Amino acid sequence: MKLLRLDLNDVVQHPGRRVEYPIELWLEREEAPPQSEPIRGTLIAESGGRILRISGTFKTVLWLECGRCLEYYQLPVEFEIHEEFPLVGIPSGLSPQGYASVEDRDSFPVFEGNILNVDELLRQYVILQLPLAPICRPDCKGLCPSCGKNLNQGECSCPPRKGHPAFEVLARLWYEQDEVHSSAERESSPLATHEETISQDEGGM
Ligand SMILES: [Zn+2]
Ligand SMILES: [Zn+2]
Repeated sequence: MKLLRLDLNDVVQHPGRRVEYPIELWLEREEAPPQSEPIRGTLIAESGGRILRISGTFKTVLWLECGRCLEYYQLPVEFEIHEEFPLVGIPSGLSPQGYASVEDRDSFPVFEGNILNVDELLRQYVILQLPLAPICRPDCKGLCPSCGKNLNQGECSCPPRKGHPAFEVLARLWYEQDEVHSSAERESSPLATHEETISQDEGGM
């Protein structure tokens, strides 16, 4: 896949100049989550003489894996970019012998000389859009802990849980004191719904 690079030298050498570039870009799969639509938007480059401003608004649709049911789902994202890069040297637009260049000291630089690596810039912003715990929908039922069936597609044929729910709650409280569970595990536990009804019953005793 060809990387998108924009030569911004003309803007850099002419303080006050402002240029808009329409962008339509697919990021490489190794670098970012897969997209179902390209990143679309407008990138604006503007020189203030000592500063080069890069801004713009972009949107795309990402493919993410649900943390509960493990199915892929689409997540539309929209984000704005605001970056400022110092310029060193005198712009040639002001002095015939001058030449200004972008100083990009970031640990993941997006400039090579006065050429902007648009892929790398947008990749950094797309990564920031990723949810910490991707869920296909708020009420995703997840997978059955016994047979692994996706419960969003209907009930499985696993036998119902045995024992009085109250004892399950007690057993679980005892169990949690000894074992450190990840919160993700607890969320997907089918006991969570039982617990709410039990605590209401207990209030009457
Ligand atoms: Zn899901
Ligand atoms: Zn099952």
